[in-house]
Amino acid sequence: MIDPIGRNITYLRVSVTDRCDFRCVYCMAEDMTFLPKSEVLSLEELDRLCSAFIAKGVKKIRLTGGEPLVRRGVMGLVRSLGQHLKKGDLEELTLTTNGSQLEKYASELASYGIKRINVSIDTLDTEKFSRITRGGRLDQVQRGLTAATDAGLHIKINTVALKNFNEDQFSGLVGWCGKHGYDISFIETMPLGKINNDRTTQYLPVSQVRKKLEKDWTLKDNNYNSGGPSRYTSVAETGQYVGFISPLSHNFCATCNRIRVTCTGKLFMCLGQDDHADLRTPLRASEGNELLNNVIDEAIGRKPKSHEFVIEPGNAGPALTRHMSVTGG
Ligand code: SAM
Ligand code: SF4
Repeated sequence: MIDPIGRNITYLRVSVTDRCDFRCVYCMAEDMTFLPKSEVLSLEELDRLCSAFIAKGVKKIRLTGGEPLVRRGVMGLVRSLGQHLKKGDLEELTLTTNGSQLEKYASELASYGIKRINVSIDTLDTEKFSRITRGGRLDQVQRGLTAATDAGLHIKINTVALKNFNEDQFSGLVGWCGKHGYDISFIETMPLGKINNDRTTQYLPVSQVRKKLEKDWTLKDNNYNSGGPSRYTSVAETGQYVGFISPLSHNFCATCNRIRVTCTGKLFMCLGQDDHADLRTPLRASEGNELLNNVIDEAIGRKPKSHEFVIEPGNAGPALTRHMSVTGG
């Protein structure tokens, strides 16, 4: 799948559910209305869709959500996609999770061929963790991390940088990651979906996160590329990577190899644009993949050159109406 400006699309992110057991304040409103089950693709349909993308050249799949591990039966999908790893037609299968269910699933994930996972943690302060996730339990997530390490999974922590909330945590998080052998990425907030707060009061550029970290740590730029939009440095004192994800800058659009599918089968060619293609209709219209492939090809043909995010003071509304839990970040 080559798009009009020559980018080779090899990385698919699949949101397997819009539901979640947390309600992180930058991601969801407190009283979310979730999709009716009838609109959501079955796990068999998701499997078929992923296989069609693999046949079209996708080499890396990331399962996300919502919280992917709260979807009932999701391990069957992981097992089935793991078969493509064995056959060699998929290079990597991975997952972004809030970690709440990891204790239960870590070893099974590893047994299906998953080697590394991203786990989102914004603070190591138990009370703040509960506040930012609206009820999540840090001890539960930490038990999940231990289980993941025991299962041999490599862990990268994702931390959303939030002004006046977790600025005091950045340096400690880097030290904690160093101790446990985790990498970490700091992420700027993106204006996706209506939440209960004004985002311009939360936005903190990752350049400022880096400045803060440099007071305590020696960060060395490196060329490590995980296939995502992170710019990586390595910490001289710990040897672990620290990444900075700045989705609002345009500097990673030129090399963007990603597309996203929602749990209802909408294909988004860009996280920062509303344009999408409906894959559920062609998927359900016939057992063969010809109709589906036609819609995919047509959609790749209109992948935009770059996103159109704006966060400006006084412009508190979301730039895009859908929530992060729909496309999964
Ligand atoms: N529930 C899983 C988790 O939290 O890791 C997977 C889905 S979550 C939507 C994926 C990532 O997006 C998480 O690291 C989360 O912190 C991040 N995220 C959610 N809303 C965001 C926003 N508005 N801006 C930036 N990152 C966001
Ligand atoms: Fe759930 Fe992840 Fe969104 Fe938090 S960031 S509410 S854990 S989907």
